[in-house]
Order: sequence, then C-alpha cells, then structure tokens
Amino acid sequence: MALFETEALVLRTYNLAEADKIVVCLSRSAGLIRGVAKGCRKLRNRFGASLEPFTLINLTCYEKEHQDLISFRQSEILKSRFNLSSNAPILTGFSYMGDLLIDFSPPHQANDNLYRMALACFEAVAETPDDLESVLRYFEVWLLKLEGFLPELRNCSDCQKSFGAEAAVYLGKDQAVRCFECSGGRGTAISKGVHALLRSMEKESPAKFGEAAREASKNAKRELAELNFQMIGRVLERMPRIRPASVR
Ligand SMILES: [Zn+2]
Repeated sequence: MALFETEALVLRTYNLAEADKIVVCLSRSAGLIRGVAKGCRKLRNRFGASLEPFTLINLTCYEKEHQDLISFRQSEILKSRFNLSSNAPILTGFSYMGDLLIDFSPPHQANDNLYRMALACFEAVAETPDDLESVLRYFEVWLLKLEGFLPELRNCSDCQKSFGAEAAVYLGKDQAVRCFECSGGRGTAISKGVHALLRSMEKESPAKFGEAAREASKNAKRELAELNFQMIGRVLERMPRIRPASVR
C-alpha cells in the first residue's frame, strides 16, 4: 500500500452506497485516477466541498497494488469553480472537456503536458466565458496532439511539400493530410482559414487563441468544429473504452 499526494482536477463523481462517492480525477503525478471518498456525502466530513466537479484540489490518497480504485484520504481546495455553477453553457463545456479527458487518458499514466493544457483551458473558459467555443476547439486539437492522434499539419504526408498558400489541404480516411495533387482532392477539405487556425493553436495559449479567434468567420469556426468532431469520432471508434465495472 502506498500513500501519495498530488494536485488533481475533479472531472466526475458518482454516488456510491449511502454516504460515499466515486471520484474521477485527472492528477498531475498519476494521470487519470478513480477513487472512493468514504463518507464524503455526510453532512460534516473531512472532504467538505472539495470533491465537486471541476475543482482543483490537493489530494492525498492510498493506492493498493493491482486495484484500479484508490482510496481518497484527504483533499483541500486549490481553486473552486463554484462561482460558475449556475452558468449552464460553461458547465456543459467543462463536462465535455472532462468526458474527453476520461475517454482519451489511459489510467495511471502521468502526462504533465496534458495536465497543464487541460488546466489552462479550464482557466481560459473561467476567465473569458465568451470564448468558450474557441477554447473547446483548442482543447480538442491539443488533446488529439498530445495523445498522438493529430495528423501532421505542416507538410503533405506524401510529397512532404510544406503547406503555404494552398486554397485547401485534404484529410484522408487514414488521418493523413495531403496537398491537392497527392490527394486528388479526395477526403475532407480543410480550407485555408481553418488550416491557419489550426496552425495558430500550435503556437498560442488557449486564452490567446480564444482572443485571436474572435476575428475568424462563422464559416471557419463551423468548419473547424466539424473537422474536430470527425477526427475525435474516428479515434474513439477504434479506442478501447476502459471503464471499471463499478462506474459503468
Ligand atoms: Zn503532396
């Protein structure tokens, strides 16, 4: 049995028995973890309000070998999102990011870049709720990138030519991006505007991207949303959905 302490973002909770909860977190030092918080639904308990979804906490827990569920011992709030709990669009956006993190993150594998990216996106939405949609697009692209599913966007996967001023590039069914000549115009066209948005995400923070994307056209934003939806759909279709039976 090992006791460990980590910073973590609460993603989802499930009631268990009369007074307990199962809590799913993305943690800095152990990646995606699921744990039982005993007695946390009792009126007075040591966890207080720290296990509400999207709260950033400092967590102490016990991990038993060969057990998927760990045991939460103590947690303290580092940052609460309670002030946003009445904002339905934001909560929906937070839940969406939380669900994707649960779907994409292999359990018990720390990924510091993913952790920091997710935190920055939650923070950007909390700071500037109006940029929610753009930050969600940023989150989707970076999640794909950090988990190794984002195609190369800088050059054609066949002829290696650097993309520059093309009217469009083409995403094939094999998730590779090609120039017009190599693709023969087949696949999902990624317009110049959307390609530029994707490239700018690689350099910017979510907050800066959200700000810059205010200038983008409605069409480009819609096209980007559809492209991301398609890329994520293809990945999830071929990914095993690892869920312990207790939280299914
Ligand atoms: Zn080519």
